[in-house]
Amino acid sequence: MSIKIPIEISARHIHVSQKDFESLFGKGKTLTPKKELSQPGQYLAEERITIQGPRGTFENVAVLGPFRKNTQVELSITDTKKLGVPYIIRQSGDIAATPGCTLVNGEHTVDITDGVIVAKRHIHMTPREAMLLHVEDNDIVFVLTTSYERSLIYADVVVRVSPDFRLAMHVDTDEGNAFASDAEPFGVLLKLFDSKQYSMDKWVNEVLEGIKR
Ligand SMILES: [Zn+2]
Repeated sequence: MSIKIPIEISARHIHVSQKDFESLFGKGKTLTPKKELSQPGQYLAEERITIQGPRGTFENVAVLGPFRKNTQVELSITDTKKLGVPYIIRQSGDIAATPGCTLVNGEHTVDITDGVIVAKRHIHMTPREAMLLHVEDNDIVFVLTTSYERSLIYADVVVRVSPDFRLAMHVDTDEGNAFASDAEPFGVLLKLFDSKQYSMDKWVNEVLEGIKR
């Protein structure tokens, strides 16, 4: 037995620190919740922020609350190319040595020196679901999806476990468009290897040598 994992596609968005937000919107100003998101406590804010890079600009980018310790801009690889910054695939919160950009709200601007990431695809789940699926926090798994004419298996999917999570796999717009997702896409978890971590390079080499696992 396994379970259906809903796949949610995240468009480009910003998690903002209180300090950067106040620099853009004014001292003492705070985020205005507009719509709740699937993960408990997370919401889409009324406020929007424009981001500028060396090559391009995205206007009115969605801001997600609540405030984070550090501002983090999450883009697809296609977006990073339009903005003109290198793409660095990272787990949320891991922003050391990532590119920066300029945040704009009207006349106000803030230059961030880092924080622009392409989010590593991941599954949020509760400890109970992790037990059911025989996985642990930070395991790397495969997810099999079906769709009309473009089914695929996602590799390099990181499992995130917390009692505060609700079961969902998060991919960006590039990854979402890579399979022709229907209205309510879902995936099932595949554990192709016994070990917690595996190497795709090793697997490719084994296939080339004719080794069947
Ligand atoms: Zn997520």
